[in-house]
Amino acid sequence: MLITTPTLDPICQRALAGEDISEAEGIVLLQQTDGGAIATIRQTADRLRQQQSGDTVTYVVNRNINFTNICEQHCSFCAFRRDAGEEGAYWLNEGMI
Ligand code: SF4
Repeated sequence: MLITTPTLDPICQRALAGEDISEAEGIVLLQQTDGGAIATIRQTADRLRQQQSGDTVTYVVNRNINFTNICEQHCSFCAFRRDAGEEGAYWLNEGMI
């Protein structure tokens, strides 16, 4: 059973009916901080998942050839990147691919 609030209920019900929600409605969902509201969104998403794909789980095997690990970004979770000239930095050449 869904725990709903007056603001979220029409949005979640429209989504469950297979209708697209608007950008403004999506923003309303993203702005929720109340635990009950977040639970409602999560339950709605789970019901949509159940409606659309049931309990079938799929995945994609995705392989990338990283021709370099030199990157100017500094994503805090990344253990891959190196600065140019830093130990361990590399560029692959055609013979290596
Ligand atoms: S994840 Fe790593 S390699 Fe990717 S953009 Fe962030 S720092 Fe660069």
